[in-house]
Amino acid sequence: MDSRTNTVMRTRALSRRFGGFQALDKVELTVRQGERRLLLGPNGAGKTTLFNLLTGDLTATTGSIEIFGEDVTRLSTASRVHLGVSRTYQIITLFPQDTVLHNVMLSLTGLRRRRWNPWQSFAADRLLQSDAVKVLDRVGLQAMAHRTVASCSYGDQRRLEIAMAIAQKPRLLLLDEPFAGLSQEERAQVQELLAGIPRDIAIVLIEHDMDVALAFADTITLLQHGRVVLEGTRDAVVADPRTREVYLGQ
Ligand code: ADP
Ligand code: MG
Repeated sequence: MDSRTNTVMRTRALSRRFGGFQALDKVELTVRQGERRLLLGPNGAGKTTLFNLLTGDLTATTGSIEIFGEDVTRLSTASRVHLGVSRTYQIITLFPQDTVLHNVMLSLTGLRRRRWNPWQSFAADRLLQSDAVKVLDRVGLQAMAHRTVASCSYGDQRRLEIAMAIAQKPRLLLLDEPFAGLSQEERAQVQELLAGIPRDIAIVLIEHDMDVALAFADTITLLQHGRVVLEGTRDAVVADPRTREVYLGQ
C-alpha cells in the first residue's frame, strides 16, 4: 500500500479562531492507517480544539479536513462517525444516571442511524442489547451492566467510554487524555485496553503522562500556540531540544 492510499485523515491549513484569538493556526496533519499518534503540547496549545474540528463538534474557520480522501470539513458529526471517526472527551460525557448497558445501547443506536421509536420498547430490542453485552464483555465490564454509570469507579467509566467509541467501529479513534485522574491500577487497565485495539484502527492520543504516552506512540506531533512545532517518529521528537523547550518554557 503506498503512502497516499493509506491516509486515513488529512488536514490542510486547518485554523480556528475564537473571537480575536487564534486557537489553531494552519495545522497540517496526516494520519495513516493503523498509526499510533501522540499529540503533545502544553495546556491551551489547541489539542482539544483540533479534536473538536476533526469530529465536527466545532467548525473550522478556514482550512479543510479529509477522511479517506473525502472532504468532511462541512459535514455533521454524525456523518463523520459513519465515515469512521470516533472519540472520547477530556471530560467524560456518559449519561451518569442511566445504566452502563443503556449507555452502550445508545452509542450503538447512533451508529445504526436509527431514530428513537416510541412504539418499540428500547429494553425489548434484544439484538441491540446482546450487541451491547458483547461490547461490555470485551472490556471486562459485563458485571457492571445494570449499574448506573454514576455508581462506577472513574476508571470503569473511562473504560466504558473507550469501549463505546470502539463499538462504533471507527477507523480513526481520537482519545482526549484518557488517563487523566486515574489511579495507577486504573491506568494499567486502560493501557491494556488500548493495547488490545486492533491495528487497523488509527489512534490519535492526547496525553500528558509521558510513561503511558511514549509506550503507546509511534509518531508524535507537538503543538504550541495552535501551531505544529514539530512532527516525527517518537524517538526523534523526544530527542529534539524543541520538545523540552516547549514544555519547560510554558
Ligand atoms: P488544549 O486541549 O491543548 O489544552 P484547547 O484546545 O482546549 O487546548 O484550547 C486552546 C485555546 O483555545 C485555549 O486558550 C482555550 O481557552 C481556547 N478555547 C478553546 N475552546 C474555546 C471556546 N469554545 N471558546 C473560546 N475559546 C476557546
Ligand atoms: Mg485539552
